[in-house]
Amino acid sequence: MKRAEIDITGIVQGVGFRPFIYNLAKTHSIRGWVLNNEKGVLIDAESEDGNLGCFIQDIPILAPALARIESLQVVPLEPIGHTSFEIRKSEEASDKFVLISPDAATCDQCLSELFSPENFRYHYPFINCTLCGPRFTIIKDIPYDRYKTTMAPFAMCQICQREYEDPANRRFHAQPNACPSCGPSLQLKDREGKEIQGDPIEKTLYLLKKGFIVAIKGLGGFHLACDAENNEAVSSLRSRKFREDKPFAVMCRDIVEVEQHCEVSDEEKKLLLGVERPIVILKRRKVSTIAHAIAPYQDTLGVMLPYSPLHHLLLKGPLKTLVMTSGNISDEPIAYKNEEALKRLSNIADYFLFHNREIHMRGDDSVTRIFEAKPYILRRSRGYIPFPIKLSFPLEMILACGGELKNTFCLTRGQYAFLSHHIGDLENLETVASFEKGIEHFKRLFYIEPKAVAYDLHPDYLSTKYALSIQHIPKIGVQHHHAHIVSAMVENGIGGNVIGVALDGTGFGLDGTIWGGEFIKADLRDFDRLAHLKKIPLPGGSMAIKEPWRMAMVYLSDAFGNKANRLRIDLTRRIDFEKWGILRKAIEKKINTPWTSSMGRLFDAISSLLSIRDEVHYEGQAAIELEMIANHEVKENYPFHIQKDERPMVIHLTEMIRGIVHDLMEGMSSSIISGKFHRTIACLIIETCETIRSNERLNRVVLSGGVFQNIFLLSLVTEGLRRSGFEVYTHHLVPPNDGGISLGQAVIGHTRLMQCA
Ligand SMILES: [Zn+2]
Ligand SMILES: [Zn+2]
Repeated sequence: MKRAEIDITGIVQGVGFRPFIYNLAKTHSIRGWVLNNEKGVLIDAESEDGNLGCFIQDIPILAPALARIESLQVVPLEPIGHTSFEIRKSEEASDKFVLISPDAATCDQCLSELFSPENFRYHYPFINCTLCGPRFTIIKDIPYDRYKTTMAPFAMCQICQREYEDPANRRFHAQPNACPSCGPSLQLKDREGKEIQGDPIEKTLYLLKKGFIVAIKGLGGFHLACDAENNEAVSSLRSRKFREDKPFAVMCRDIVEVEQHCEVSDEEKKLLLGVERPIVILKRRKVSTIAHAIAPYQDTLGVMLPYSPLHHLLLKGPLKTLVMTSGNISDEPIAYKNEEALKRLSNIADYFLFHNREIHMRGDDSVTRIFEAKPYILRRSRGYIPFPIKLSFPLEMILACGGELKNTFCLTRGQYAFLSHHIGDLENLETVASFEKGIEHFKRLFYIEPKAVAYDLHPDYLSTKYALSIQHIPKIGVQHHHAHIVSAMVENGIGGNVIGVALDGTGFGLDGTIWGGEFIKADLRDFDRLAHLKKIPLPGGSMAIKEPWRMAMVYLSDAFGNKANRLRIDLTRRIDFEKWGILRKAIEKKINTPWTSSMGRLFDAISSLLSIRDEVHYEGQAAIELEMIANHEVKENYPFHIQKDERPMVIHLTEMIRGIVHDLMEGMSSSIISGKFHRTIACLIIETCETIRSNERLNRVVLSGGVFQNIFLLSLVTEGLRRSGFEVYTHHLVPPNDGGISLGQAVIGHTRLMQCA
């Protein structure tokens, strides 16, 4: 073959692909041309001396870090005698849909320029190129061109312009290209908004070292930063942020520094160093200089590495590790505009390190960990967004509105599901505004006009209310746990019927009660509830979620009746029996007491029963701390009972509760009891799945729901199920928690729409 047309699709625009091809062509003495078209990149390549094969082979191997090649097709052509290689003008397309790259961590080449005194971008905090830098967060509209980004106000100087126009240059068409003389700059201010004179980075380092809290504008929003080794600074950040004990993330200078504080496996290292640069949850070392107040009651630490040039500059000096927590007050969305940050964060931060490159879309840091040597994503946001999940079949254009907590939405187009960035808890107007703005933005970026909208069945969710307010398109309600299971099915590329195990805190059920300990037979369209935890009352509704002791008393009363109050365990010594008496009356009279089969509430109950946590300060805290103390060596478990002659089957836990109380009275440590409890839950999941297998002839189990953020439980369950011969599927691309359900909703929305068509 002497000449070929090469058609490449995927993320191949705005990531330095054409200069890469241009240079690769030179290396292999290839002649012809390359251009961007509506599908990706098109190459006409010709060579006389058999180099063409090597050239084609090298494309996927040497492609720029940000490129994602989805397909590469080669069609042989007759030689026509090209004499040079050139980059041609892009083809005008009728359908302008292209994929957009996520924001990416500073590349090695930019880093070396950043720290070379002879380079004209030496110590310039906004250095970037086609291989790295801001993308999604600065794009206001498409096409992805500088004038439609927040870089528009900065006219390039001659040098930058020359780089931008040079096909052989790494900054060829690098839209955020900038230098100290033409690009964005830093500004340090105090909380009154008065500018601090001097070098902003030097001054910031000085202030951080002194123990001050500085709000630092990053890629997707503000961080609140302080010296991670200064206990006093960390504690004052906690109290000012009204964040009692939810862990803070830290940013370490480099991997060597991470290893000082945490155990790091090869897979974790790879995840930490990836272009996405997420926060990775790591096992914390027993001895470390990190302030205790950063993650109290935890044996893990959320760690990330620097991902912007500014971060690298801040961590090159005397500070090796910084607290970098999101710039917000408790549960509000992260601040991302200068004036807004000054207004909202001035009670927390002493100083503000601003810059004048605007952030158009918020992007919280992503949160991940490693499970079975693969990434397990707990929050999919900055660095991953807006890269789509690729499905194994094409979908109608669907808008799925997600849930309430950890909300994301999802828009589909062909085989792509665009799962949004982390929006947050849809509990206040500000978050709702950000949700609505996000939907409009994604629709415009990817030319999506939804044919239907899918939503959660919970009537009070603001996402549901939003969905129902949309006019003129079909609205499809999707059950919460079905959405969980389908989200895991499609990311694994499986269809047909599966056993879905969906365990979480809250999900509106078909019978109007709150579900959360669910075993369903599911496909991509329908589901059948086959088993669940026995229903119990939730006294006070949402207050019962904030106060796990209520759940402990509910389970105790269920197991011991009137004798519960007189049990000689620590819990009954702590309880305010007057308050509990009122709640019991409310339960009897059915006042403000929904019923639930929630697994999350069971974990809460046990946490309180073991005197770990009676009241929580953040979602899932009681369960997380119960996992932290669990002894992993324990082999025993408590008895339980599955009532198999009912449909759905009901799982009874009375014997387990009695067993735990017995162990408590015997003085057994809560660490051992927690270990036994985790094993019991794993056993009941496995036995329930085995029963379903023999009834339904299904052998594939899909695990989803927030409870599976518990890695100890997840390991016990996956190992046990595999030992029993099941094929087990878990998440690796989208979160197991409610941050993933919009993907499931979208797919179910599509299959239901097809059914009606
Ligand atoms: Zn770069
Ligand atoms: Zn310049």
